[in-house]
Amino acid sequence: MQNRRSFLRTSALGAAAAPVLLDGCAPEGPASSRAGSNVDPKDEIRPVALSTWDHGLAANDAAWEILTGGGSALDAAEAGVRVSEADPEVTSVGYGGRPDRSGHVTLDACIMDEQGRCGSVAFLQHIMHPISVARQVMEKTPHVMLVGQGALDFALVNGFEQENLLHPDAAAAWETWKDENGAAQPTIDIDNHDTIGMLTLDQAGNLSGACTTSGAAFKYHGRVGDSPIIGAGLYVDNEIGGATATGWGEAVIRAVGCFLVVELMRQGYTPQEACELAVERVIEKNPDWRSIQVGFIALGKNGDHGGFCIAPGFNYAIRTPDEGNRLLDSGSRI
Ligand code: ASP
Repeated sequence: MQNRRSFLRTSALGAAAAPVLLDGCAPEGPASSRAGSNVDPKDEIRPVALSTWDHGLAANDAAWEILTGGGSALDAAEAGVRVSEADPEVTSVGYGGRPDRSGHVTLDACIMDEQGRCGSVAFLQHIMHPISVARQVMEKTPHVMLVGQGALDFALVNGFEQENLLHPDAAAAWETWKDENGAAQPTIDIDNHDTIGMLTLDQAGNLSGACTTSGAAFKYHGRVGDSPIIGAGLYVDNEIGGATATGWGEAVIRAVGCFLVVELMRQGYTPQEACELAVERVIEKNPDWRSIQVGFIALGKNGDHGGFCIAPGFNYAIRTPDEGNRLLDSGSRI
C-alpha cells in the first residue's frame, strides 16, 4: 500500500491526463435498473460494510457483527468507525490522530441514517468518539452540526469523558514537523491524511453512513475539512445509495463530492461510474488536482459498490456474505 504521504502528494509521475471516462450523458434507463435503487422485495437482502483504507478492515468486522445480528445500518456504521477512532495506530482518526499546527488534536465527524437524519461535530477536542457525539447531535437536538467548545460542552453534558487524545507518537511527529516546517505556511504536502468513511447496508435493506477524522495533519488551528460536512464528506439517500470521501477536504468541499456521487447514482450511473465522474468534477474544480488526492467510495441500495480516486494509492475495505472482508485497490485517474 502506498504510504499516507504518497497518497496525498500525487507526483507528476504518470501525469499525462487520462481521457475523461464518461461523456457526462446519463445512461439509459431508470436508476432502479442500474444503480439498484429499487430492490425487489422478494430478493434476499444481503448486508454490506464498505469503508475507506486498510483500517476499514477492522471497522468492517465490528460493523459486521451488528449487521449479521440483525442490527441497524446506523448502529453498524457507528460501531465500525469507533474502532478506528480508538486505535492509536490509525494516525488520522480520533486517539492517535496527528495534531494541528499548535499541537491540538481537533476532530471532525458526521453520521447519516436511512431517514435522512444527520448529525455532525467539527473542531471538537478531547473526546475519543466524535462519531457518537455526532449521533447524539442527530438524535437529541434539532440541529445538524455543533462545533468547537459548543460541541465539547454538549458531549460532556451527555456523558462523554474528556481525555487527552495526543498520543506520544503524535506529539513526537508534531515536534519533528515543527523542527522541519514550523515557519512554513501549511500546504497540501501534508502527511497522514486517511479519514475513515463507512457505508452500511443492513438486512432490512436500509443504508447509513459515518465519517470521522482528525483531518489534515498540522492544519491551521480551527480548520475544518469535508468530513463533518453532510454532502461533502458523506451523503446517504436510502432510495439510492451512499457515498463517503477521503483526501484533501478542501477539494471535496468545492465539488460537494458525496452529494454529487449519490445524485449521479440517482441518474442511473452505477456506484463505480458515479465515483469516477465525481473525481472528474473534483479535477475540474481544482486546478491543482495533480498535486492532491481525493478518493470516493459508494454503495448502492442493491449492494453494488465502487471506488475511485485521483492518484494511485487509495484502497478500501468491503465485507459481504459471499466474499468475506477484503481490501480493494481503487482505480485512479492518474
Ligand atoms: N478528508 C479529510 C480532511 O480533509 C482528511 C482525510 O481524508 O484524511 O480533513
